[in-house]
Amino acid sequence: MTQFKDLGLAEPILKAVTAEGYTNPTPIQAGVIPAMLTGQDIVGIAQTGTGKTAAFTLPLLHEISKQKMGPAPKTCRALIMAPTRELAAQIADSIRAYGKYMRHSVTVVVGGVKPGPQIRALARGVDVVVATPGRLLDHVSRGVVRLDRTTTVILDEADQMLDLGFVPAIRQIMASTPDERQTLLLSATMPKQIRRLANDFLTRPVEVSVAPNSKPIDRIDQSVIFAEKVDKRKMLAPLLSEDDVECAIVFTRTKHGADKVTKDLIKSGLQASAIHGNKSQNQRQKTLDGFKSGNIKILVATDIAARGIDVSGVSHVINFELPNISESYVHRIGRTARAGKSGIAISFCDGEERAYLRDIEKLIGISIPRKKMDGALANYADKVAQNNLDKVVGALDDGPSQGNRNNSGGQGGGQNRSRRRSSTAQNKPAWGSKQSRNKRQGQKQGQSQPQGQTHSQGKSQSQGQSKGQSQGQAQGQAQGQAQGQSQGQGRSKANAGGRSLQARPKTRSGA
Ligand code: AMP
Repeated sequence: MTQFKDLGLAEPILKAVTAEGYTNPTPIQAGVIPAMLTGQDIVGIAQTGTGKTAAFTLPLLHEISKQKMGPAPKTCRALIMAPTRELAAQIADSIRAYGKYMRHSVTVVVGGVKPGPQIRALARGVDVVVATPGRLLDHVSRGVVRLDRTTTVILDEADQMLDLGFVPAIRQIMASTPDERQTLLLSATMPKQIRRLANDFLTRPVEVSVAPNSKPIDRIDQSVIFAEKVDKRKMLAPLLSEDDVECAIVFTRTKHGADKVTKDLIKSGLQASAIHGNKSQNQRQKTLDGFKSGNIKILVATDIAARGIDVSGVSHVINFELPNISESYVHRIGRTARAGKSGIAISFCDGEERAYLRDIEKLIGISIPRKKMDGALANYADKVAQNNLDKVVGALDDGPSQGNRNNSGGQGGGQNRSRRRSSTAQNKPAWGSKQSRNKRQGQKQGQSQPQGQTHSQGKSQSQGQSKGQSQGQAQGQAQGQAQGQSQGQGRSKANAGGRSLQARPKTRSGA
């Protein structure tokens, strides 16, 4: 197996890699690093979680380590473009970590924050700019930064850039870079438009692909719970209050939905915060920092905002709503079970989402186990059932016949019962507990617990119950197989020898 030391990376970088605890390069790294060091253009087909950031960052730092002079004012040697601000910040963090034993400079250029600090940093000149396309284009058109000395350009998560409509901005930015440059394009999928982008901006690229991650890793314990749309919100807090939930990401389909869910969770006494496109960059970063540090236990996110986020220790991913794009399911649940850990992914599925579930199962090639409600959820289910019974009983109670009232346990009308419920609820045992069940049976009546009480009691009852209820998937782990197809062999061998940051002639079209 290839080792990092075999790749020819500079000593300070190897030291940093060791400090990160990496022993061997991942398949995408084993494919990309040597090709990048020989100056070739690369199409990398890989998702987040495969180690792709280090794959392009380590050779980039290697080239910077060889430079004798700093970058000229208002220029950058290398440009990395990413679809989201969070991903840009994360890539910059990786560069700082892998470059901590060598001199280098990195600046993040993203929207949603004041441009002043970016302008000042760019004025000095930087080794690496990590940017989202919109803000970078602003700076380029105002002359804050020139890209005519940028000899390495990396487009990360290109398919997301396409989805977010960044391609026109990318084309303008690329037109400001020299023809003589090294270009990498990384994408989880390769739709036609991304192929076209690659054809337009890359010259005889080497293609390195890791097996598509359509199969979630087998360390993720997946399950699905069928639920009515209206019940999902009530079910979420009990589920997240279970003891085995250390740190969770809840996915919603819309920004508005994320806000509503967050409000509910906070009301239930949980530390939750939302991250989505309507939040300011400062809010998004603050939330992400809080989540990473453990101050925020639950992150409620939309797909785009969470894309590429790498936080270790996420114990649970909850799909509050199933995604309508099946691949998003794989991306979402891949936020857990990182760095060799295991994780739990639970999806709520309502009637309208059954079709999405079928598509997801087709993509991942397995049937996701249906989760039986247990622990706090079972309490909730009990409560729903009991409330339904209440309604029936109430309807009977509210009827004209005295006989009906007697038959239903003499509880009186619905309104009176509600009032009694709230006055006595505090002293009740938890729903679902033996004590509670006996009491209910004995009382022949429905006395609903207030939601908050159900949550906390559900938590203590359900310890150790929920974990491992659904079976781990007997599926092969999505293992990467780097396939360096030497499409780049037609390129001049003069490129060999680690010159990716150096000028070399190219013929391009469409830039
Ligand atoms: P990425 O695909 O770049 O988002 O990386 C996913 C995770 O893999 C990050 O947490 C990295 O720290 C980690 N990682 C990257 N390269 C390696 C490696 N060679 N060995 C172990 N972990 C790695």
